[in-house]
Amino acid sequence: MNPSSLEQIRLPMVEIYETIEGEGQMAGFPTVFVRLFGCQLRCTWCDTPYSYAPAEPEEIVSIQDVLNRLESYSSRRLCLTGGEPLIHGDRVVELLRALAANPKWLDIHVETNGAVDVSSFINAVPEKHIRYVMDYKLPGSGEYDKMNDDFLHALREQDELKFVIADETDYLVACSLIRKVSIKAQVLFSPVFESMPAKSLAERILADKLDHVKLNIQMHKLIWPPAQRGV
Ligand code: SF4
Repeated sequence: MNPSSLEQIRLPMVEIYETIEGEGQMAGFPTVFVRLFGCQLRCTWCDTPYSYAPAEPEEIVSIQDVLNRLESYSSRRLCLTGGEPLIHGDRVVELLRALAANPKWLDIHVETNGAVDVSSFINAVPEKHIRYVMDYKLPGSGEYDKMNDDFLHALREQDELKFVIADETDYLVACSLIRKVSIKAQVLFSPVFESMPAKSLAERILADKLDHVKLNIQMHKLIWPPAQRGV
């Protein structure tokens, strides 16, 4: 893709900022977050409602502009998030291709909501350090009916499959799924900050001997006020 094309492809942007990654395999590392606008789901516990309608994007930016802005950060890990970044289809593929070609980035993880088939994105940009963190929606999210278990098969060892657990029903559904489906990705169980005490979830994981499951605490909500934006 030549530079003029990267100038022409534009994406709706919410924010770009640098912080400490609070979740998943890269938790604790300084990371640049690129948050695109738009999501086709409406989860009950969503903590980024400013990333989809009726809110509006902060700006519409070219891929080249995004790449230029990213040069000012020293972090070498990047989280592409939303909203749901993959709803932008081929435009996101071009952004990922441009990021994958830059040796500055050690890890680029794409947060996706489980309602998009990631296989075409993996085929289009197969570099191993472009990873997917799929957030599988359980009943407590209100969007469980949008999940397609076939999408889980595309996940690789370097990817992550996150279950955000609001209550006992969510926990049981997640356990049933990981017993039923062969999953290569690292499985994460993450408590909903407001309704599921981390201690309760930790004790259930131990009692049920889920030795391949990793407890995922949202570290940024411990470091900064839980509702603070841009951290
Ligand atoms: S998929 Fe993510 S951004 Fe979309 S509503 Fe659910 S939590 Fe919010």
